[in-house]
Amino acid sequence: MEELSYGQFIGPHLKTMKRLTQNNQCLITGCTGKLIGSHVIAESVLERIAEKGHVLTWDPADADIAKNARLGLDQKTVYQQPTCVGIRSDVTYPLFCDEHDGSFFRELEHRGFSCQIEQVALLAYRAACYKTWNARWEEKQEYLLSSKEPEIGMQYKRLFSWEIMVEARQRLYDIIETKDYQQLSCKIISLNVTPFIACTEAFIPYIDGNEAAHTDNGIISPKAEDVIAFSFFPDIHSNKSFCVLSWFRDSQRVSEFIDSYHLDQLAKDDLVQMLYVAAIQRSLVYVSPIWWRSLSPELQGQFSRAQIANALAVQNLFSDGGEVQEIDDLGDDAS
Ligand SMILES: [Zn+2]
Repeated sequence: MEELSYGQFIGPHLKTMKRLTQNNQCLITGCTGKLIGSHVIAESVLERIAEKGHVLTWDPADADIAKNARLGLDQKTVYQQPTCVGIRSDVTYPLFCDEHDGSFFRELEHRGFSCQIEQVALLAYRAACYKTWNARWEEKQEYLLSSKEPEIGMQYKRLFSWEIMVEARQRLYDIIETKDYQQLSCKIISLNVTPFIACTEAFIPYIDGNEAAHTDNGIISPKAEDVIAFSFFPDIHSNKSFCVLSWFRDSQRVSEFIDSYHLDQLAKDDLVQMLYVAAIQRSLVYVSPIWWRSLSPELQGQFSRAQIANALAVQNLFSDGGEVQEIDDLGDDAS
């Protein structure tokens, strides 16, 4: 079989990826409103770490990831340096309609964070929406995994935990709608540090490597109740940031995860350090350009590597195999 050149391969592949990365409907249950670009972290919050309306983030485009992989470059290359993005329109996602983007999240937007449980629930819900907005994710997952051995494919599916995350999102929505906040546990940590980072993620935590491996192998099956939400963001008052953790009260597993860190017993500096490390590993991270420039190249490298670890699993899907499916897919997509 004639080998396809890089250019012949990459175009159709990226076209397919774009087609499979879409959402046309407001994520609020039952709403069919027209989408606007929504911020996952409010623009007013990003403003607190921005420089002339810009922040830094790690969010390489599919095109850059695929190009990097196909050129055989070090997988870490595209993540090595953060990119500069405008806080108004460069960092929006197809999450909600105009009405819901404003009214549903009103408590998060205007008066700053005041440790209300409703705000905690909204932060968690928004993080879960960010993780699950792509309405065609299941097709995209099938496309990316189609060339994998079935067992490897299952491992990836467990890693992504798509259905579980969607279920957790719905559960958070129900809590907000019914104001049944008793279902949530949270830990709010106020830190007197110069704001430099804003990040958020809903994810399934692992207490140790064994647990992660057991999940990979299907011995442990995480459930929606195992999802935790982590947010770290600057407060409306300068020199103060909040770290907010929330989880479903009935999750024994997450309670044990939180307890394992002994957060209440850590010295202040150790606590701050630990939360920084946790913050920089989240899948959505924005940092202050001024702060970034103040770091040594070594420290910049450390932070970037934390982001790389988070993204490598996805990037691996591009780099080993997959050509057959990607070329076959041309059939209904080429124009
Ligand atoms: Zn809506």
